[in-house]
Amino acid sequence: MHPPPDRFRPFLDATARYYRRYDVLAAYVPELIAMHCGHKTSIQLSLPNDDDLGPSLIRLRDFCDRTGFHLARREEPDAIKVLLANRPLPDDEFHDKAKLGELLSYPACCIDHCIGNDLNNPLIDHLGDLIRDGDCFPYWMNLFLQTSPFHLFKHYPCSLTCDVTSAYAQTLLEKIREANPSLWTHLRTFLPGPVLYTDICGAGICLVGKPDTEAHPVGRGAMGSVTVHYRDLFWDANPSQVGPMSRRNTPDDVELFGRLTSLLGQGDQVTLADDACVIRRGTRVMGRLKRPTHLHWKILEFKL
Ligand SMILES: [Zn+2]
Repeated sequence: MHPPPDRFRPFLDATARYYRRYDVLAAYVPELIAMHCGHKTSIQLSLPNDDDLGPSLIRLRDFCDRTGFHLARREEPDAIKVLLANRPLPDDEFHDKAKLGELLSYPACCIDHCIGNDLNNPLIDHLGDLIRDGDCFPYWMNLFLQTSPFHLFKHYPCSLTCDVTSAYAQTLLEKIREANPSLWTHLRTFLPGPVLYTDICGAGICLVGKPDTEAHPVGRGAMGSVTVHYRDLFWDANPSQVGPMSRRNTPDDVELFGRLTSLLGQGDQVTLADDACVIRRGTRVMGRLKRPTHLHWKILEFKL
């Protein structure tokens, strides 16, 4: 179901290094740097509640003892939410969506957008809304690696052109450059590039390569097909895990994601037309997948 390991390796190796070093906090290193620099007051971890949580909680309590952070936790149907904050936390702040958003230092425009539109699980169900009006964005706005260590913000922005989010991401990037130059390099390695958005549980497949911009200029609202030639690929979403939480995807969609990534792992170019996607290796067609009508597929480009 997955591409050959060598195609995925640079991303997996880098991710594994962060997990060895930071353990349960690996996917929150950018947020910890933001807290350290005073750009955030707290971070929220989402831990699967089907695992044995004991060791993770012991490590987090140990981390709080060393750093002076305060820890609070809340159980949700599909995850345990753990909040680490630089001050004691009254219970109501953790349970009220608007107060929680403020506590996590999310932009007010983005909090209002989520609450005003009553978005539940927006990163799984509503990523398609964000990309409707554009296909080319600066790399610091790439939000398809939010559960890996390689992201600059974890919230659902009111749009991919949100000025407040963009300013926050750029400021944090500069802080990371000073505090953790190797993370800065990883961010500039993994965030730029074309992304195949699948509309399946918010997953975007990052392609290391180039869109065929001469024939089909991405970013200029081109009609017709777009081809991307790629060397490597990786993704961070896990549709088979989050599928049951999605309001817009079916088990068939999750299965389709498996077939798509498997074919992409065998190919070196993908052509996205209106109703289908063709994967080739050289001139040989490896497979063709028809787009189910309820899904919206798109190639986006995040520019360095
Ligand atoms: Zn915003």
